[in-house]
Amino acid sequence: MALSKHIDPASLLAAARAHPHHRLIHREHRDIHEGSYASRFEADMEVPKFKIPQTGVSSKAAYQIIHDEMDLDGSPLLNFASFVHTWMPEEANKLMMENMNKNFADQDEYPATQAIHTRCISMLGDLWHAPKGEAIGTATTGSSEAIMLGGMAMKRRWQNKRKEQGKSTQAPNIVFGANAQVALEKFARYWEVEARLVPVTEEGNYCLDPHDAIKYVDENTIGVMVILGSTYTGHFEPVSLMAELLDEYEKKTGIDVPIHVDGASGGFVAPFAYPSYKWSFDIPRVCSINTSGHKFGLVYAGLGWILWRNEAMLPKELIFELHYLGSTEYTYTLNFSRPSAPIIGQYFNLLNLGFEGYRRIIQADLKNARLLANALELSGYFKVLSNIHVPLPKTAEGLVGAAQKAVGAVPDPDDAEAYMKGLPVVSFRFADEFKKQYPYVKQVWIQSLLRNKGWIVPNYNLPPALSDVEILRIVVRESVSGDLIERVLADLLEITESLMSNPDVSMLMAAFSGQLSLRAEAHNGRVTKAKDDVTPSNTHTYAREC
Ligand SMILES: *Cc1c(COP(=O)(O)O)cnc(C)c1O
Repeated sequence: MALSKHIDPASLLAAARAHPHHRLIHREHRDIHEGSYASRFEADMEVPKFKIPQTGVSSKAAYQIIHDEMDLDGSPLLNFASFVHTWMPEEANKLMMENMNKNFADQDEYPATQAIHTRCISMLGDLWHAPKGEAIGTATTGSSEAIMLGGMAMKRRWQNKRKEQGKSTQAPNIVFGANAQVALEKFARYWEVEARLVPVTEEGNYCLDPHDAIKYVDENTIGVMVILGSTYTGHFEPVSLMAELLDEYEKKTGIDVPIHVDGASGGFVAPFAYPSYKWSFDIPRVCSINTSGHKFGLVYAGLGWILWRNEAMLPKELIFELHYLGSTEYTYTLNFSRPSAPIIGQYFNLLNLGFEGYRRIIQADLKNARLLANALELSGYFKVLSNIHVPLPKTAEGLVGAAQKAVGAVPDPDDAEAYMKGLPVVSFRFADEFKKQYPYVKQVWIQSLLRNKGWIVPNYNLPPALSDVEILRIVVRESVSGDLIERVLADLLEITESLMSNPDVSMLMAAFSGQLSLRAEAHNGRVTKAKDDVTPSNTHTYAREC
């Protein structure tokens, strides 16, 4: 993602002129926007792209230029790569626009916003079984900021405890699975905590296996981060088993290691889809939980939440008391200014949907994900790695289960609790038999060919130890309807079959190599890695070095 470099237009132009296709168009000024047809009286305007224009243009012209360029982006509706939600009802859009100009940092000036923030924290505390009246938390710009705050609180508590005991605070470490999202690794590297990445295995559902994780824990472990909803496959890492093993560890050694749950997606999935599942503050070892309001909290990008079990989990020296905008305010965040609108949007969703509404939406997401997963497996071309479509084995016991088994009955498709738990995510790859039969067909071509039809479905490698396995992944969000699933499936199978039946198509794809290079300019402004840079050896997550 976008760490952008300054662009020297002269070199860009030289490169553009040399490009065999661009050469065919005789345009001298590629560093100037041309063609604001919406403002007909500014036809001869000159708006440079890479330095601030000396004089501006009318708002109409500026709007048209940028609006048209934005149309070259992918369609958010067809973006199956992201967990971040892209649709809200009209009234939410209106409310958010009405509050677009409010800075959340101005606590004294906007007391109603503050009250709404407090209510959101309270509702989340309730949803996550926090002890009554004790949880404390804050909105953030996303789970990444929330994870930084959660990690820092654990680090500081560990340091304070070690100092009290007269022990060294030199070498803190943190334990999480190699499947971790980049935010966890960023925390470790930016805040100088050794990241102990637990390798993932197929048997361990491609995520943290607590029996392996416990071997990485020692007196310098500030905490274990358990991910509720692995970004690769949607599997829930078992929080309660991790807690049990850490309880045993404490009994043996006297060392108390806390758990932070990264519920970026799962924090808004598990409580509604699986209300009796234990993963949150009802497990005493869970000290803090983060979630992304902009994922299954159903708000647009820009909102996260973190809650701590109680104030004792939040060392006093991390909380800042501010006395300058009219009153005394307390904060524990990385950003000062931030938009209020996403918080208002979250409160809108909570009031509008209620528990039943959120439950209805997540059940529908899971049902659509199962529909897709089952169809992919039935095609015979694909193996599905996510498992929310697999009926729960526990029904094999008991009378009902035995009866179901006898008649080969399939559990109620509307009941998420009859299936394995997880996020509404479908991760899949070519079946082994398919690979044997069509060794020349590359899985990444599916991504490219789907993109030609507008669908955005990423193809990428699993974490280290399994990094030779490539997966395609579709995240089923509220706007991914049954109709869309049906269409993407039809395209997916048609593409696969055309690659199978036609070696010429394969040849073409091999030459094309999946590079859709509408993105030349974006690439031009990208930071590149110097050849002699050394890759730090302790990094093994999907956060590839640039
Ligand atoms: C998305 C995600 C994050 C990062 O969250 P942002 O809200 O995008 O900052 C962290 N952990 C997991 C498991 C995620 O899925």
